[in-house]
Amino acid sequence: MATRFFSLPSHLLVPPPRLLPADRIFAPELPAVVGAVDRAITGAEFRDQRLLDRLEHLLADGTRYAAPSADGGPSVIFAQPPDDLPALLRTADQLESMAVDTEGERALVWKCDSCGTRYAVPVALARDVAIHCERCGNPVQLIRTRSLGEQSLMDPHLSAVNVARRALAAFFRESMARGWPVLASRNRS
Ligand SMILES: [Zn+2]
Repeated sequence: MATRFFSLPSHLLVPPPRLLPADRIFAPELPAVVGAVDRAITGAEFRDQRLLDRLEHLLADGTRYAAPSADGGPSVIFAQPPDDLPALLRTADQLESMAVDTEGERALVWKCDSCGTRYAVPVALARDVAIHCERCGNPVQLIRTRSLGEQSLMDPHLSAVNVARRALAAFFRESMARGWPVLASRNRS
């Protein structure tokens, strides 16, 4: 069961079994990785409570509103401005620091001009040197100012979780700025 967060103007909230107006729903842009949202919010807090505990409690006992789509379960209000605004902004900050803390080691990347083989060197170890390409033998200049840029050395799943944390943080802030309640729903499956 995947958790979904979205927001919309409160006057558009209707009870089940109708559906909420899909064209008025604002939702975070999330990576298409199963479980990324649930892992992204694990460990986050809201109003001195674990966010997941509050979510479980609301989904079990909260007032139910219509589902955001046909494959979604009924939704509940997770946070409502203005009362929950400061708390949700703190959660957004926390999600972003969690992303930064788990970002892990970053590497500088170069490409062999002759054969295209990529070379990644952890930023902390990068020195301006020339090497011979392991594939074609041509010299490759690993000059820091001429790298193709930085990339993360962490695994793709954790990377998706951090993309989800940042997307949720931006979404929480934007929803509060619009004055819209943030709702949660779980996909039926
Ligand atoms: Zn090469």
